[in-house]
Amino acid sequence: PLILGIETSCDETGVGIVRGTTLLANTIASSMDEHARYGGIVPEVAARAHLEALGPTIRAALAEASVTLDDLDAVAVTSGPGLAGALMVGVGAAKALALSLDVPIYAVNHLVGHVGADLLDTAAPLETPTVALLVSGGHTSLLLVRDLVSDVELLGETIDDAAGEAFDKVARLLGLRYPGGPEIDRAAIGGDPRAIRFPRGLTQPKDLVAHRYDFSFSGLKTAVARWVEQREAAGEPVPLADVAASFREAVVDVLVSKAVAACTDLGVPRLLLGGGVVANSRLREVAIERADAAGIALRIPPLSLCTDNGAMIAALGAQLVMAGHPPSTLDFGADSTLPATEIQMAASVA
Ligand code: ATP
Ligand code: MG
Ligand code: FE
Repeated sequence: PLILGIETSCDETGVGIVRGTTLLANTIASSMDEHARYGGIVPEVAARAHLEALGPTIRAALAEASVTLDDLDAVAVTSGPGLAGALMVGVGAAKALALSLDVPIYAVNHLVGHVGADLLDTAAPLETPTVALLVSGGHTSLLLVRDLVSDVELLGETIDDAAGEAFDKVARLLGLRYPGGPEIDRAAIGGDPRAIRFPRGLTQPKDLVAHRYDFSFSGLKTAVARWVEQREAAGEPVPLADVAASFREAVVDVLVSKAVAACTDLGVPRLLLGGGVVANSRLREVAIERADAAGIALRIPPLSLCTDNGAMIAALGAQLVMAGHPPSTLDFGADSTLPATEIQMAASVA
């Protein structure tokens, strides 16, 4: 089936078009530059930017895929989780499109969409069950995906800041620009990752009982702030490369350790990475090393499919169609806290 997917949960206006698992278009407009001056995403700015960008982005995607609206078999849209106002723009547009074209609509989960991204443009299809580690500016979640369209379990998530958010906040306190991830990656070049032993959140034996697969990065952020303050108070220079490399190592170490532990504990020898933080060079390195050592097959989709995009939403929609799932009824809204277990919203009864 030919599916158009709309993604507006955060600062990317994404429109993707797929035929089954074949990627035809993945068009993105980002309002990131507009947020840079505030040092983080401003929800109201994001929502307005979606409103302006969505029409042109849909047209660009259709042109890229060389199809017309009349060719579409269904529309898929992110209905949560994400920023409420931003989500509503995409949901409204998708409903209008589905109504006017008289095609079914699938309201899908953004997190599960990140997993669906791995189906596109790959010779070897995604195998399940798989553990998925999703790391971005808005979420840090560890999922057990037994079946993409029917059985997703949340193993753990961050209890405070998301991993990307930690990069953004630490970059800011180090005087670097937004978004912080690439800035810290650059600053860490030549730095010693073992120079400073920053805390690894929720990895103490006592934490592992209730929070085995959960994450916490706000303590790490505070530890970096304290370390820098003490240096400055003592009138000593701050070794930026060492701080950046040591901070990054702490984040990456926890992310990969917990993901690999989940695979090992659950006997699932497959791990998928997704989300914008996957751009991190050190995360990729460490994940490859440790997955290899543990006999885990690691999948990292191309970066254009890891960051927020519409193609992954279309891909998940296509899977639902192909599995014979009924479409969503038009009474769904945006759910900013939609749990990962809810793969599709407002599915009508078959
Ligand atoms: P959502 O959480 O809804 O997926 P988002 O816009 O926050 O939305 P992405 O666009 O996928 O997420 O990713 C952006 C985040 O990824 C930012 O926090 C950014 O700092 C981080 N990031 C980007 N490149 C890197 C990098 N090289 N290293 C670490 N983090 C990075
Ligand atoms: Mg983004
Ligand atoms: Fe995302």
